[in-house]
Amino acid sequence: MAHCDNCESHVTKAYHRVFSDNSGVLHACSRCHDQAKMLDGAGVGEVNSDR
Ligand SMILES: [Zn+2]
Repeated sequence: MAHCDNCESHVTKAYHRVFSDNSGVLHACSRCHDQAKMLDGAGVGEVNSDR
């Protein structure tokens, strides 16, 4: 089962293949990017609604 090596949440095989590095380590999944985005911005009560 493919998973993110950063947050260990499940990702699809295709996602893992595209975003993992040459040794098969997925450093960040979409969830990680979301969290990074939230931590990065001020983000109090404001969530991206452009999904
Ligand atoms: Zn992750």
